[in-house]
Amino acid sequence: MTDKVHLGHRARKRFGQNFLNDDNIIDKIVTAIDPTPDDNLVEIGPGLGAITEPVVELSGKLTVVELDRDLAERLIAHPTMGSKLNVHQGDAMKFDFSSLVSETAKLKIFGNLPYNVSTPLLFHLFEFADHVEHMHFMLQKEVVNRMVAGPGSKAYGRLSVMTQYYCHAMPVIEVPPTCFKPAPKVDSAVVRLIPKEASQRSAKSTKILNTVCLEAFNQRRKTLRNSLSNLLTVEEITQLGIDPSLRAENISLSQFIEIANWIYDNKQ
Ligand code: SAM
Repeated sequence: MTDKVHLGHRARKRFGQNFLNDDNIIDKIVTAIDPTPDDNLVEIGPGLGAITEPVVELSGKLTVVELDRDLAERLIAHPTMGSKLNVHQGDAMKFDFSSLVSETAKLKIFGNLPYNVSTPLLFHLFEFADHVEHMHFMLQKEVVNRMVAGPGSKAYGRLSVMTQYYCHAMPVIEVPPTCFKPAPKVDSAVVRLIPKEASQRSAKSTKILNTVCLEAFNQRRKTLRNSLSNLLTVEEITQLGIDPSLRAENISLSQFIEIANWIYDNKQ
């Protein structure tokens, strides 16, 4: 067998399949999720069940969203887990996670995410922040570094601002390539995301906040007077109490929100 075949399944690169194969790391991830029978748990991309099995043992039930039809069928037919799983075969990026919310329990979402779609998938998940208690995701370490980076750091960018707008984000575990089959080319890390209360998220339009970040970081070496010239004049930036000679990497989350809200109020 090549190392692309794991537990009788040939890993599909197009679905970002790198299966966890290290009990110690799996234990740490499950401990971070801390599943209980009262939880409303959802796993994205359960694959061959490396995290699914120990979670179901503790929770007794679990909803999973898996794109690969073969893997979804394997899970449905699984001799011990099958009856405890609510399997949705389909694309997590199109999945309406609010459809799983119950009156008593918000969602606890987790997954070793397909790295090829991790950023758009995270943005999709942020839309459900009000329905989520916490999320734990394995991602490329570099992506986790970007999610948790603050102003002044090279890793600080749109993903940092938008992640921290929606969530408190903290790295919890680092995972080397040897823990997967097949081994990815990059280091990985698990991030914990705890959605902020709606009252703490004060952007009047997240679409505008996202556009401001896109423009500002698209030319991150340029000063705001240049990078935001499509959106604001130098006078308008100054009027907001922000120095137009700063670069995007020096602007805090609250300043990005102020810029976006000013545009919402004055240019809509
Ligand atoms: N959870 C397993 C593990 O840790 O061994 C598999 C992780 S593998 C990195 C990513 C999983 O996500 C694969 O099972 C893959 O088929 C699935 N997947 C890929 N794209 C997906 C999508 N858009 N929606 C749902 N699942 C997806």
